[in-house]
Amino acid sequence: MAKQVLGVPVKQNQIIELDIHGMSHEGEGVGKYEGFTVFVAGALTGERVRVKIMKVHKSFAVSRLLEVVAPSDVRMDPPCPIYHQCGGCHLQHVSYEAQLVHKRQIVVDALERIGKLSHVLVHPTLGMKEPWKYRNKSQVPVSLVNGHVVAGFYAPRTHEIIDMEGCPIQHPYADDILKTVKQAIAELGVVPYDEIGHKGLIRHIVSRIGFFTGETMVVLVTNGRYLPKKDRLIERLRREIPHLVSIVQNINTAKTNVIFGQESITLWGKDTITDYIGDIQFEISPRSFFQVNPVQTRVLYEKALEYAQLTGVEEVIDAYCGIGTISLFLAKKARHVYGVEVIPEAIEDAKKNAERNGISNVDFIVGKAEEVIPFLNKDKGVSADVVVVDPPRKGCDEALLQTIATMRPERVVYVSCNPSTLARDLRYLEDHGYQTLEVQPVDMFPQTYHVEAVVSIVRND
Ligand code: SAH
Repeated sequence: MAKQVLGVPVKQNQIIELDIHGMSHEGEGVGKYEGFTVFVAGALTGERVRVKIMKVHKSFAVSRLLEVVAPSDVRMDPPCPIYHQCGGCHLQHVSYEAQLVHKRQIVVDALERIGKLSHVLVHPTLGMKEPWKYRNKSQVPVSLVNGHVVAGFYAPRTHEIIDMEGCPIQHPYADDILKTVKQAIAELGVVPYDEIGHKGLIRHIVSRIGFFTGETMVVLVTNGRYLPKKDRLIERLRREIPHLVSIVQNINTAKTNVIFGQESITLWGKDTITDYIGDIQFEISPRSFFQVNPVQTRVLYEKALEYAQLTGVEEVIDAYCGIGTISLFLAKKARHVYGVEVIPEAIEDAKKNAERNGISNVDFIVGKAEEVIPFLNKDKGVSADVVVVDPPRKGCDEALLQTIATMRPERVVYVSCNPSTLARDLRYLEDHGYQTLEVQPVDMFPQTYHVEAVVSIVRND
C-alpha cells in the first residue's frame, strides 16, 4: 500500500509535475510541490519535470525522473553509454561550463548558510581544458555473472556490478588494462570473486598510471595467495599492456568492502611507479594515496602556494599532509615546513619523497594534527607563520582550530574537499581572530559532484 505521511502533499507512487529551482550538493535537482521539497536525481535547475514519488519523509520526498517536460539549455547527452546505471559520475548530463558554475554555487551556499559568510569573494571554479580521461587510478570490482566475467563500478547504493567496456573519466590505459585482464582471466579460467559466498579469487582489478611518465601498474586483488596460471597471466599482461612496468598481487581474504589487504607481492617488474606534480617526483606504491587528478592537483597547489605568500623566511605547518605533496611543494619557498599526518606509512612515503627530491628543510611527524601541533608549539617552540590544512571530509578537529587561534599564524590556507565542513571551520576562525579573504574552487573531479576549494585566511591585527 502507498505510504502516506500526515500533513504532506505527496504520497508514494504518486506522479506529479514540478519546476526545479536548484541543485543539491550531490547534483540532484530540487523542486517544490505545493511548498514541499522534492529531490529529483537527473533534473536540472530551470527544468519542468514529471516524476514518480518513491519515498516520502517528514520534510522532503525523493522521486524518480520520468520525463523532462521542458529541458534546460545546459542539459547534455551523457557521452558514457552506462552513465544512467553506473554510480561513478553524477553530472555528465550537464554541460561542463554549467558544472563549474554549479560547483561555485555549492561553495557560496555553504559559506552563507553554514558559515554566515555572505561577503566573501568566491572566484569562478578553475576547470580543466579537457574534463575527461583525467583519473590516474581505477579500482574495478570483478565478478562472475551467468558464467561471464564482468567488471565495472557498482550501481548507486548497491553491490550490483555494471559491466563496462571503458570509462571516459579514466586514463585510456585503464580501459585497455580492464579489457586485457578480463579476457585473460576468462580464457585462463581464473575465477572471479563471489562476494556473497566469499569464494573465488580475483576481487578487484586496479590500474595506476603515472600521468606524466606513462608508467603503468596493474594490481590484482585476490581472495587468497595461490594464483593459478600465474606465469601465463603475467606473460599475457606483459605482452598486451604497452606501458606496463609493474604487476602486483595484493592479498585480501577478509569479508570487507575495503579494497586492499595488508600484503602485496610484486609478480613482475618494479614495486612502484613514478609520477610528477610540477617538478617534484613521487614514487607511488600499490596502496599509497596520491591525488587522482594530477593535472588539477598542480592547479590546486599553485593556488595554495600563492595564498601562502611565502618569501623564503617562513616557518610553515602542513597539517593532514598525506605523503607530503603540499609540504614539498611549499618547502622550496619556505624556511622550514613541518608535515603532520596520522597514517605512519604515508609519513614513511613523505620522508622518502623529500629525500628523492633533495628537499631537506622539511620534517614529517606521525600523529593527529590536533595533538602533534599543540606539542610542536608548546614543547618545541614552533610558531608557524603559515598553517596549511587539507583535512578529510569531516573537516578540522576543533582542537586544531583552537591551537591555530592560540598560535596565531599570520596566514592560514585551507584546502577543502567538503564545502559544509569548510564553512563551519571558517566560522570558527572568523570568531577567533581571523578573516576569510577569498575562496578559489578547483574542479578536481569533473563529471562528479565533488567540489574542492582553496581558501585564503588572514589574522586580524
Ligand atoms: N595533503 C595531502 C592529503 C590530504 S587527504 C594531499 O594533498 O595529498 C587528508 C589526509 O589527512 C589523509 O592522508 C588522512 O590520513 C589524514 N588525516 C585524517 N585525520 C587526521 C588527523 N586527525 N591528523 C592528521 N592527519 C589526518
